[in-house]
Amino acid sequence: MDLITKAANVIKNSKRVCAFTGAGISVESGIPPFRGANGLWAKYDPSFIDISFFEEHYERSWEKIKEVFYDFFGKAQPNHAHLGIAELEKMGYIKTVVTQNIDNLHQLAGSKNVIEYHGTASTLLCLSCGSKFKAEEFSFKNMPPKCPHCKNKSIKPDFVFYGEGIPEPANSLAFKEAELSDVFIVVGTTGEVMPACYIPMMAKQRGATIIEINPSSSAFTNSITDIYIKLPAGEAFDALMKEFKN
Ligand code: ZN
Repeated sequence: MDLITKAANVIKNSKRVCAFTGAGISVESGIPPFRGANGLWAKYDPSFIDISFFEEHYERSWEKIKEVFYDFFGKAQPNHAHLGIAELEKMGYIKTVVTQNIDNLHQLAGSKNVIEYHGTASTLLCLSCGSKFKAEEFSFKNMPPKCPHCKNKSIKPDFVFYGEGIPEPANSLAFKEAELSDVFIVVGTTGEVMPACYIPMMAKQRGATIIEINPSSSAFTNSITDIYIKLPAGEAFDALMKEFKN
């Protein structure tokens, strides 16, 4: 049987599906992955989002943070993979999305139940007074940014920097989902980032069927994947969603 049809049948016969997504799903939205030859880290030194560098060099970090995450990422729109996942949630198949991405594209596509494992760029947090601000309403006119409430230069994007731990409750919720799901759809993630890569592994251990959508094979492909769809995410969801329209 065709792998797309096989994956669709598994989803149709499931009780609880989780979509687990990484940078690869947003590439077709124009967001480069961090890693790899065309990745962000081929162009930028990642230290600007290292927490100790950030604390010592607030202004220099913010020059790059604004350029990469707000001037550029801010314009990205969801693609057919984000939209397909949102539709599967609406149809009652997908229960939760666990994403490693910080780009808010699942929510923009219409997904309601999203666990942001690495936080989000769409919120800014003041490390001094704890206030939170929506990035789209925040003025980046005067750099580096000052907190509008306490006036301290201590504004940080609310995503996980290098050297920081995974936020709660995202961490426990993601592993809980891995325990409860009977189908796990892994999309656009190479499985190299720890501890996120343990989430699909936990799902497999608890008996979930693993569907993987990746244009090239990953750390999951020959270890835990049951159905491997070797396609870019958008293309795969175009084909997959047709199976739900007959
Ligand atoms: Zn503040």
